[in-house]
Amino acid sequence: MEFLPQQNRRNEGATIPESEAILATGKRVVIIGGGDTGADCLGTCHRQRALSVTQFELLPKPPATRAASTPWPLWPMQLRVESSHEEGGLRDWSVNTVRFTGDAAGNVTQLHATRITPEFTAIPGTEFTLDAGLVLLAMGFTGPAKGGLHEQLNLAQDRRGNIATGANYQSSEPGIFAAGDIRRGQSLIVWAIAEGRKAAAAIDSYLQTNHTETT
Ligand SMILES: Cc1cc2nc3c(=O)[nH]c(=O)nc-3n(C[C@H](O)[C@H](O)[C@H](O)COP(=O)(O)OP(=O)(O)OC[C@H]3O[C@@H](n4cnc5c(N)ncnc54)[C@H](O)[C@@H]3O)c2cc1C
Repeated sequence: MEFLPQQNRRNEGATIPESEAILATGKRVVIIGGGDTGADCLGTCHRQRALSVTQFELLPKPPATRAASTPWPLWPMQLRVESSHEEGGLRDWSVNTVRFTGDAAGNVTQLHATRITPEFTAIPGTEFTLDAGLVLLAMGFTGPAKGGLHEQLNLAQDRRGNIATGANYQSSEPGIFAAGDIRRGQSLIVWAIAEGRKAAAAIDSYLQTNHTETT
């Protein structure tokens, strides 16, 4: 996703060339994806003074309080309202985007969507069209980038496409270790820090055991 890193760079004082700039200013924006990345996009669009911002989520709207399916001490399945949601914008759930239409120059002008069941089946007769001058894809984390270093090294993957490791953070290739998002799936910074520290200790132990050089 190019939109958020660009704004981070602007905030640091960088100038983004006009030919590369993605800006919400004065546009009707649709964000596809109702997660944290979508929430960050929403806040950023408001700061860039978008004309309107709509955020779509595939899943049904969660309950306002803890769902019965996730009793304590499980992580509660419930509607989350981030500070960026409090700033405005329209959130809509159980919506699947099916196509875009654009102008002769290739710019998106409209988004076509349909309402869906919790099983992601389109509900006939619920198709609708929305004007959109900018569509941001914040559709969730699907695993490490394809074709990356881990694939070139043929490292074993878990069923979600992350690097599979043992408890010592070592991958299927001896001497190659993994930690953070690429190992546990996309998560939180605290986990990346904790795993980085543990992996470093495991690497130290591996080197001490297997590769102590004598002079
Ligand atoms: C939009 C967004 C918002 C988020 N908000 C939050 C939040 O509010 N709070 C929170 O706790 N977490 C948040 N997260 C999650 C958090 O950013 C990640 O969990 C965390 O950054 C994972 O750290 P990491 O070190 O495992 O991976 P990364 O931070 O992704 O670091 C991996 C680094 O490796 C580099 N790299 C890739 N390939 C190579 C290569 N071949 N050689 C050298 N370097 C390479 C990449 O450029 C990158 O810098 C957010 C994530 C996103 C995308």
